[in-house]
Amino acid sequence: MAFFDTHCHIDFDEFENDRDKVLADAAHFNVSHMLVPGVTFAQSDKLLSFENTQGITFYKALGLHPYFLNEYEEGDFERLATLAKSHRESLVAIGECGIDRSIEKLDDQQQLFLQHIELANQLSLPLVVHHRKSHDLIAEAFKTLKPKFGGIIHAFSGSAQVANYYVEQGFKLGVGGTITYSRAEKTRDVIANMPIEHLVLETDAPSMPLYGFQGQRNVPTQIIRVFDMLCELKGVETQSARHLVAEQLYASSCSVLRI
Ligand SMILES: [Zn+2]
Repeated sequence: MAFFDTHCHIDFDEFENDRDKVLADAAHFNVSHMLVPGVTFAQSDKLLSFENTQGITFYKALGLHPYFLNEYEEGDFERLATLAKSHRESLVAIGECGIDRSIEKLDDQQQLFLQHIELANQLSLPLVVHHRKSHDLIAEAFKTLKPKFGGIIHAFSGSAQVANYYVEQGFKLGVGGTITYSRAEKTRDVIANMPIEHLVLETDAPSMPLYGFQGQRNVPTQIIRVFDMLCELKGVETQSARHLVAEQLYASSCSVLRI
């Protein structure tokens, strides 16, 4: 069974002291494929410099995460777009990008998100979308400018109706640590009832620690526990059925990223 962590920030400083060990652990547990999304222009060069190593294949995306809106300098998006165009062959997606209601400047976020959709469409790439209390605003953006190549809704949480809307728009739902928390009952139910072909696994390492690991740095190896929980929620028990689910998740990751 090979696992694909479709969202991990292995380039972040949290891994500066032991990145090789973290990657060796991941490879040991067959977490052999990782998508590393971009968050700022400043970090883009470092991200692009990552080379496949120790049995891990890296895939990359470039984007401006709404969290860092206050740090952006004039022209950052244009610089990012130029970089993305010149490194098109190294990219599998545009993101992470999106809209977050816990952050100010919603108008600016919406504008920036539309720019990301436009860039993804231009480069024939899917999107990695960050959301927080913002499904309505994301749908509004999709109405203004439809993403042509779908993408991944990172750390999906929401209702079945919202989940189905994203699937209709050509998106997969990112399933991560959220489903390990019993308080996420609604999201757990939605994920449990969603066909595997619409799901991909992700950790968001070093963020979003799983239940039981709160306050600790998250690592890609934890994708195995997310997978276990997904199997539990779906009532998948036998080894052969688990294999099949793992294969379907892997295929689903490759299909949305067109690799
Ligand atoms: Zn992220």
